[in-house]
Amino acid sequence: LSAPPLAARVGIALVHHPVLDRNRQVVASAVTNLDIHDIARAARTFGLSRYFIVTPVTDQQQLVERVRNHWLTGWGADYNPKRRQALELIQVVPELAAAIAAMTEQFGQPPLVVVTGARNEGDRMTCPELVRQLEAIERPCLLVFGTGWGLTDEVFKSADVALAAISGASDYNHLSVRSAVSIYLDRLFGARDHTPTALAG
Ligand code: SAM
Repeated sequence: LSAPPLAARVGIALVHHPVLDRNRQVVASAVTNLDIHDIARAARTFGLSRYFIVTPVTDQQQLVERVRNHWLTGWGADYNPKRRQALELIQVVPELAAAIAAMTEQFGQPPLVVVTGARNEGDRMTCPELVRQLEAIERPCLLVFGTGWGLTDEVFKSADVALAAISGASDYNHLSVRSAVSIYLDRLFGARDHTPTALAG
């Protein structure tokens, strides 16, 4: 039997608290409908196992559950099964620790917690290095993304790994979190041979 793909033991956490605001104060940001749908679809496309939406705010938790249930069990499930397959990866949790606990329970060992941000400070690991490490240690992995003005220093300090920021071809690199997720997932888990022959096979 061949080993399951690497991405099958990887999850995403999208953190809405604690995150920074424009004055570097710690706040809880609002969940957006775009982040719910687009990140779930990216996670499903690249074969990830979980998508945790982290918010301690009850109203926001209920909002995500309502959207999720609409597409999982409401008329949306029949209307668009592809969307259902993506949104069923979603789990709402009140704090990052709960996402780590859920991954630990699913895989029998704690995930390597990997944070992301647009600033390249301190030790950073490249995507190929992270892939090599995950292959070597055979642990699950939780990729952590921020909202608002990004993850707090405390979240960075508590992580096992910080990924190198995505750089384009200009001095501007402030991506939407949805773009950042898709670029990282393609760099980490995307198929690299896009020739027509490979696709046909
Ligand atoms: N309101 C914004 C939006 O529309 O998505 C949220 C911005 S939030 C700070 C963006 C998150 O995406 C960051 O916390 C980080 O996880 C990721 N991100 C954005 N740009 C990035 C970059 N250049 N390199 C790595 N991660 C990046």
